[in-house]
Amino acid sequence: MRYMPEPFKIKMVEPIKMTTREERKAFIRDAHYNAFSLSAEDVYIDLQTDSGTGSMSDSQWGAMMRGDESYSGGRSYYRLIEAGKEIFGYDYIQPVHQGRAAEKILFPLIVTPGQYVISNMFFDTTRAHVGLAGGRAIDCVCPEGLDSGAYFDFKGNMDVPRLKSLIAEHGAENIAAIVMTITNNSVGGQPVSMANMRETAAVAKEHGILVVIDAARYAENAFFIKEREAEFADATPIEITREMFSHGDVFTMSAKKDALVNMGGLLAVRENGPLVDAIKTRVISFEGYLTYGGLAGRDLEAMTTGLYEGLDHDYLTYRIGQMQYLAARLTADGIPFQNPVGGHAVFVDAGKLLPHIPYDQFPGQALTVELYIEAGIRGCDIGSYMMDRDPETGEQQRAPFEFTRLAIPRRVYTQAHLDVVADALKAIKDRADGITGYQITWEPKVLRHFTSHLKPVD
Ligand SMILES: *Cc1c(COP(=O)(O)O)cnc(C)c1O
Repeated sequence: MRYMPEPFKIKMVEPIKMTTREERKAFIRDAHYNAFSLSAEDVYIDLQTDSGTGSMSDSQWGAMMRGDESYSGGRSYYRLIEAGKEIFGYDYIQPVHQGRAAEKILFPLIVTPGQYVISNMFFDTTRAHVGLAGGRAIDCVCPEGLDSGAYFDFKGNMDVPRLKSLIAEHGAENIAAIVMTITNNSVGGQPVSMANMRETAAVAKEHGILVVIDAARYAENAFFIKEREAEFADATPIEITREMFSHGDVFTMSAKKDALVNMGGLLAVRENGPLVDAIKTRVISFEGYLTYGGLAGRDLEAMTTGLYEGLDHDYLTYRIGQMQYLAARLTADGIPFQNPVGGHAVFVDAGKLLPHIPYDQFPGQALTVELYIEAGIRGCDIGSYMMDRDPETGEQQRAPFEFTRLAIPRRVYTQAHLDVVADALKAIKDRADGITGYQITWEPKVLRHFTSHLKPVD
């Protein structure tokens, strides 16, 4: 249970407010028991997401001063393109304002309504954009990924035998794309092996199906490959990254994760061709001119520097080490979680911790509320509450698992903060029997978990 010391020192601090349990009970009630509706000021340790919540380095802040704010052809744009080509090896690299902007631009260009898109597991916005383009999203993660108690090195992998049978069942011409999410966010930030990426790409090639990499956590995935796949033990994270991306045709990326910026994204195509021309037209309509893509020149500078910092081996050792430290503390206290821990978060198995709460009373959301009341910690449900209703029948869909995700922002919290989290979970475990489920009192039609209202079940 060793904590990996930080490979940095702290140059600027942001005070956080301390609150009482009584105050927190009122805050979460006023937020309709939806943690997204809390004021961030009233949160002590914010583990809602690792997206855009990291600390930038002094090099990134320094680079921002050199941002070229020209409308077209700015120096900062060329610096980003050069880095993108070096790291990913793609012909066309397009900055966009965040990951879902890349999805919005791409999916209508590659999906014909009625077609299927198959992924090792869709992230919620990616699933939504497939649906908005008229496509049908199918999750196809390996069976180990859905068994939170079982150890497996690469729980994020595509289930390749099932992928083959889905292609045989629906016909390759009815499959618009295969989306490889690295790391596999929805099953716990679990890595995908290089062997699995090679195999999936070979199946896609055999059937002429496009491979899209959903690449938010490319660096964490590369680190796991280095640690766990013997062939890559001596390779650098950049070398591993280059091979990973060689197994895709297109990638969408939220740069708010491993690229260590607060806002930004990329959309890239391996080989120049008609898709690139179509992308350019949509980028100009939705994001802005090609050489800034919805970002300021200074944002492009921060992203370029962040792309390299995110791949630094010492940084990645510390980063994954934080997850492993928290996981070891939970193991010691008998708290169930997606094991082994993934790259950006601990996914506590709320279904197992609160077995008396049925899926349609949202155990992951119940634990999220309880963590806030216990210690001002904000997590996020990744379970049935996060699933939208079945678009055809309106029925509550059942997620294959009920997690509360505790996502760790990059370079933000210390060992003592992680200890507060572990202590809070232990306290909740000791009074688990008295915790009730939740029901929805108001919800929008899509992506409901962001804005729904809930109340405790009587
Ligand atoms: C965050 C994320 C996205 C969406 O990116 P945003 O920057 O939040 O729009 C897409 N896919 C995955 C796997 C993600 O983690």
